[in-house]
Amino acid sequence: MASSEFSLIETHFARRAGTGRPDWLKLGIGDDAAVIQPPAGRQLVSTVDTLIAGRHFPENSESMSIGWKSLAVNASDLVAMAADPAHFLLALTLPEVDEDWLSRFSDGLFRAAETFGMTLVGGDTCRGPLSITIQANGWVANNRYRTRAGARPGDRIWLSGRVGDAALGLALLQQRVAPDDVDAQTSATCMTALNYPQPRLGLIPLLREQATAAIDVSDGLVADLRHLIDASEVGAVIVRDVLPVNDWLRDRERLDLALAGGDDYEILFTAPPAADVQLQDAAKTLTHDLKLIGEITAEPGLRMQADGKFVDLDRYRGYDHFQS
Ligand code: ADP
Ligand code: MG
Repeated sequence: MASSEFSLIETHFARRAGTGRPDWLKLGIGDDAAVIQPPAGRQLVSTVDTLIAGRHFPENSESMSIGWKSLAVNASDLVAMAADPAHFLLALTLPEVDEDWLSRFSDGLFRAAETFGMTLVGGDTCRGPLSITIQANGWVANNRYRTRAGARPGDRIWLSGRVGDAALGLALLQQRVAPDDVDAQTSATCMTALNYPQPRLGLIPLLREQATAAIDVSDGLVADLRHLIDASEVGAVIVRDVLPVNDWLRDRERLDLALAGGDDYEILFTAPPAADVQLQDAAKTLTHDLKLIGEITAEPGLRMQADGKFVDLDRYRGYDHFQS
């Protein structure tokens, strides 16, 4: 590799990744590959996500938020599996070497890494249209991971945090919603939700103990709940009036942004009614909401209870990269 590439990696990534080497890391950045010794009795859970400029974020997004979000979306996938985030690799494609941009990108990235307890163990750097791929890994005690399959009729459906904030943030950014139409506080909250999603690491122990199935909400509540019920071979009913959404979405009847918006990175999971009390108690100690939003049914299909009726949710589609 060129020396400028070497110094770029060294300055912005290798040097900052080096602090506090965990036991399982035998060899980190600097050789041809990293060497990791999984802790005894743990399984490795792996995921990868790519963020492309102009598609997953606007070209001119603040690079600190690109750094944060690239890792956050991966950590959220690990949480959904009930795995403890541990390490990641970063494949970075850059149109040019912009030291300012890189230093803020790595600030966001390492702030996220510290928050989620993750170590950067390697990567790759090339020139080309801006894109960021992170391959992230976590640990889970043998066979204690959760999947989308496993929900049973009668299980409750729980949802962390709030849905639709990031979608409203994006709508504001793209001027599909007029800035004057939204109060300053709401728009600030929504922009933060869009740019700095918070993976729900605090839910991991609860998921291991209580969840029958789990998924992270990245494509939209309806789309991701549908993935869960499809994998579990069940149906579901959610209740419109208990969906955790901000007042603006509720007052303006823009629940579509909460149902199909995406980019929420909340956790949706199912648990038997016997877990209600423990989950309600646990919710009080979390830094975010945890709401009961519906129930799993034996009857297939996805419906929403609203105004005493049942609305078929099939016309709601989440974000699909292969649809126009
Ligand atoms: P190779 O030619 O063997 O692929 P590279 O020059 O791509 O080696 O990388 C050299 C070292 O720097 C490797 O340990 C690699 O994991 C690490 N590395 C490269 N790019 C990054 C990056 N963006 N972030 C972290 N580590 C990186
Ligand atoms: Mg390489």
